[in-house]
Amino acid sequence: MTTTHDVINPATEQLVRSVELATVEEADAAIGRAAAASPGWRAVAPADRALLLRRFSDLVGEHQEELALLEVENAGHTIGNARWEAGNVRDVLAYYSGAPERNFGRQIPVAGGIDVTFREPLGVVGIIVPWNFPMPIAGWGFAPALAAGNTVVLKPAELTPLTAMRLGELALEAGLPEGVFTVVPGKGSVVGERFVTHPDVRKVCFTGSTAVGQRIMRGAADQVKRVTLELGGKSANIVFADSDLELAAARAPYAVFDNAGQDCCARSRILVERSAFDRFMEHFETAVRGVVVTDPHDEAAEMGPLISAEQHERVSAYVEGASDGVDVAFRGTAPEGAGYWYAPTVVLPRSTSDPVWQEEVFGPVVAVLPFDDEADAVAKANDTAYGLSGSIWTRDLGRGLRVARGVEAGNLSVNSHSSVRYSTPFGGFKQSGIGRELGPDALEAFTEVKNVFISTE
Ligand code: NAP
Ligand code: MG
Repeated sequence: MTTTHDVINPATEQLVRSVELATVEEADAAIGRAAAASPGWRAVAPADRALLLRRFSDLVGEHQEELALLEVENAGHTIGNARWEAGNVRDVLAYYSGAPERNFGRQIPVAGGIDVTFREPLGVVGIIVPWNFPMPIAGWGFAPALAAGNTVVLKPAELTPLTAMRLGELALEAGLPEGVFTVVPGKGSVVGERFVTHPDVRKVCFTGSTAVGQRIMRGAADQVKRVTLELGGKSANIVFADSDLELAAARAPYAVFDNAGQDCCARSRILVERSAFDRFMEHFETAVRGVVVTDPHDEAAEMGPLISAEQHERVSAYVEGASDGVDVAFRGTAPEGAGYWYAPTVVLPRSTSDPVWQEEVFGPVVAVLPFDDEADAVAKANDTAYGLSGSIWTRDLGRGLRVARGVEAGNLSVNSHSSVRYSTPFGGFKQSGIGRELGPDALEAFTEVKNVFISTE
């Protein structure tokens, strides 16, 4: 039986359109086509595979505005962010179009012959995408996977299928053969689960909640299926008294409220050196009140709504619904009326065991605490099961490096909040995930090393 999902614009609560959800049989058929396309795709000459990916990249670039507007409607992303996201897919494809011709093995000196290694594709790769960054997270999976010679089935989040579906069409238009890259909109419990249980899917690349990630890892064990998991975070923004405090405070809102806080890299904990705490909070308040939360179509918009009513409820539960109460220091503004709006909110936890300090809120809520010295800052930052990203603000670069080495997280930045560059590896320590995406590392995640010895005797 076919079911549909009504895509709702989170800024207006209006219906955008209905999307048919794939059944298990349809998922199986898509996986079957991907498996059938696999031998042909891996046999495409490296330069030709590169050319096809470059064409795909060019087409995404030509459709950047269309894709961006689709994301504004579907996910409530600000138009500025949505343009960046479509541009990121273009750039990631361009970056990995260089990979087929540089997918090097090694030649290892041995007695009696020649030993070489090959980086073989895995076969069919299943990519499961969340709703928070529908385009970039899809691209981080499919671009390197395709470049390495795999075929791909991709399940977008039920809430945000539209840009992925369009990218699937553009891939065909670019000349990628049928079955090489197939987007399968459907439920996690149906299509996502099938990626885990279907023996022809050799790897699952998942981004989303910890609970589902754990379930996928357990399921993957049955077939010793490869997994890459990216499961969110509770990252710290550590501000030392010797930093450019005004700059640190001015930038801090964007490190957590970007995408309405629905970002696995959100610096949702701010740690401020005690001697600078009051001064930081003063500047921070001005900055938070200045965040432009409005219609995401507006070129000036810096933050849009949350993705859904459910997410709005989940976020509110940490503040309005906190059982022991939460001290709100100050708030920014948000539109009233239709839409899942939530104003940027700054809270002061009463202890480091408060849920708002420990759990991923995935909304525009940030908790601030003071710290005493470098060791205390690192200990407080590491007091979490997660380990995805983080920032350090200091003018002392030695300290910046020491603290960056001390924080247990995959992506740190000093005097900056950047986490993601397509040319550098991205991923989590601890329960933030397993494996690395992007940069040179992603290719390794989508290939298997084969060693071949050829006798010369
Ligand atoms: P989620 O359930 O983990 O969804 C992520 C993706 O996994 C979606 O495509 C989902 O499909 C799919 N999925 C769900 N159940 C599955 C299953 N049993 N097997 C295979 N795939 C499955 O995340 P959510 O419920 O949307 O969000 C809940 C919380 O997760 C958020 O509040 C946030 O804390 C966290 N989260 C983190 C990230 C991140 O970037 N790390 C992203 C999103 C959410 P459906 O859309 O059909 O459910
Ligand atoms: Mg879920």
